[in-house]
Amino acid sequence: MTDLERRGDRSPVPAGWTYAPAPESTEIVSLQERYGLFVGGEWLEGAEHYTTISPRDEAPLAEVAQAGEADVHHAVAVAREAFSTWSALAPSERAKYLFRIARILAERSREFAVLESLNGGKPIKESRDVDLPLAAAHFFYYAGWADKLEYAFPNQDPRPIGVAGQIIPWNFPLLMLAWKIAPALAAGNTVVLKPAETTPLTALLFCDVLRQAELPPGTVNIVTGDGRTGAALVDADIDKVAFTGSTEVGKAIQRRLAGTGKRVTLELGGKAANIVFDDCALDQAVEGIVNGIYFNQGHVCCAGSRLFVQESIYEPVVEKLKRRMATLRVGDPLDKNTDVGAINSRMQLDRITELVEAGQAEGAEIYQPPCRLPERGYWFAPTVFTNVAQSYRIAQEEIFGPVLSVLTFRTPDEAVEKANNTPYGLSAGIWTEKGSRILWMAERLRAGVVWANTFNRFDPTSPFGGYKESGFGREGGRHGLEPYLSFS
Ligand code: ADP
Repeated sequence: MTDLERRGDRSPVPAGWTYAPAPESTEIVSLQERYGLFVGGEWLEGAEHYTTISPRDEAPLAEVAQAGEADVHHAVAVAREAFSTWSALAPSERAKYLFRIARILAERSREFAVLESLNGGKPIKESRDVDLPLAAAHFFYYAGWADKLEYAFPNQDPRPIGVAGQIIPWNFPLLMLAWKIAPALAAGNTVVLKPAETTPLTALLFCDVLRQAELPPGTVNIVTGDGRTGAALVDADIDKVAFTGSTEVGKAIQRRLAGTGKRVTLELGGKAANIVFDDCALDQAVEGIVNGIYFNQGHVCCAGSRLFVQESIYEPVVEKLKRRMATLRVGDPLDKNTDVGAINSRMQLDRITELVEAGQAEGAEIYQPPCRLPERGYWFAPTVFTNVAQSYRIAQEEIFGPVLSVLTFRTPDEAVEKANNTPYGLSAGIWTEKGSRILWMAERLRAGVVWANTFNRFDPTSPFGGYKESGFGREGGRHGLEPYLSFS
C-alpha cells in the first residue's frame, strides 16, 4: 500500500500510491492477418503491403495495403458513381444511416477503444472515455442536421458538392474519421478517406460498422497507405480535400490545389498558449495545465504547449505543477491506471527527442519526474522546461509530445502579445476568476478556440479550426457543414 506523510499540522496524506496492474484484455479485438482496401463495400486486394505495429512494444499487429495511384483513382470513381444514389436519397433516410452508425459505434465502443490504444499508444482510459464517446456523438449530432439543412442555411438552397477526399492524422484516428465523415455524409456527399499510415486499424474496423449499418456501397471508401497515397488522393478527380495534419504537408496540398477549383479545408499544427492569471483557482489551473499538455502524450494539435504564468504566482505554479507531474503514471496504454501512454512512432519519438535536446542546448532548464519507462516500445517522460526564452525552438515549434515550456508575463497586454507571437493560431486557454478579463482576452487572442478555466474540451456542436498557419475552415457545429455544401 502506501506510506502516510504528515505535512505541518494538517492530516496525514498518502505520500505516494502504488497501483496494481489493471490491464484491459485485448481479447475483444480480433484482427485479420492482412487488410485490403475498402472500396464499393468490398475488400479489394492491395498490390503492396506494410506492417502496422503497436507502439507499446513494437509488436506487429497486421499487414495493411499501401494503395497506389490506380487504387485511389478507382476508389474515387466508385465514390463518384455512388454519389448519384446517396445525394438523391431523402435526407431523412440519410439521417437514419448516420444514427445507425452512431449507435453501432457506441455498442462496439470497447472493441474500438482497445484497438485504438493498441495501434496508437494512447491510454485506454482516454480512448474509452474521450475518443469513442466523441466519435459516436459526432455521428449522432450530424445525423440530426441531415434533414434540416435548409433550416441551417435558410434561402440558400444548400446542395452537396460531390466526392470528398479526406486525409487524417494518427493522434485521434477514429475521432478524426468521425469529424470528417459525419458532416460529409449528412450533407449528401460521398467519401474516400485515407487514415494515417501508423494508425489504420480502427478505420479498417469501421468498415465493418458501415457494412453492419448497410450503408449503400461506395458511399464511404477507405484507402490505406502513406503520404504517397494521400498525394494521389489530392490529385484525383475529387471535389474537395479535407486535411488534418502538419502545417508542412498542408502547405504542400494547398500549393498543389491552387488553380484546380477543388475546395480545401486545412486543420494544421498549433502552439497554444495556456495563460494563468494570479487570481485563478490555482489547483484547478494546475489540473488544466496537466490535461492541456500531457493528454494523449501531447499528440494534440491544440495542446497547451506554452504555459504563460503571471509573474507573481510563478513559483507556486511551477512547484505545484512538478508535484502533480510526479503522480502521472506513464506506461502500458492498455492499463486502466495509465495517464501517459506510448509515443505513436519511432519517428515522432526522434522528433521530440531532437527538440528537447535543442531546448537544453539553448539554455532552458529541464524537469522530468522520476518514472520508470518500459524497455520496449516508444516512450517519453512528461517534461517541463523553465527558463525559456520566446526565441527558443521549444517555444516556437510544435513538438507534438509531452513537453511543456513555461514563460512568464506581468500584464494582460503582455500576455496577449506573447501568446500571439507564433505563426500558429489554433487554440488558447485562460485561467482567471474574472469574467470580464476572459472576454477581454478572448477578443484579442488570435486562436480559433479559446477555453476559459478549462482546456482540451471538445463537443460536436462547437466549431473547431485555426487562424494563420493553423489552417482554415471549421469542423464541428453548423459551421462544419458549410465546407461540404454549395449554395446558390
Ligand atoms: P503528422 O506530422 O501528424 O504525421 P502529416 O502531415 O505528415 O502529419 O500526416 C498527416 C496525414 O497526411 C497522414 O495521413 C499522411 O499520410 C498524409 N500525408 C503525408 N504527406 C502527404 C502529402 N504529400 N499529400 C497528402 N497527404 C499526405
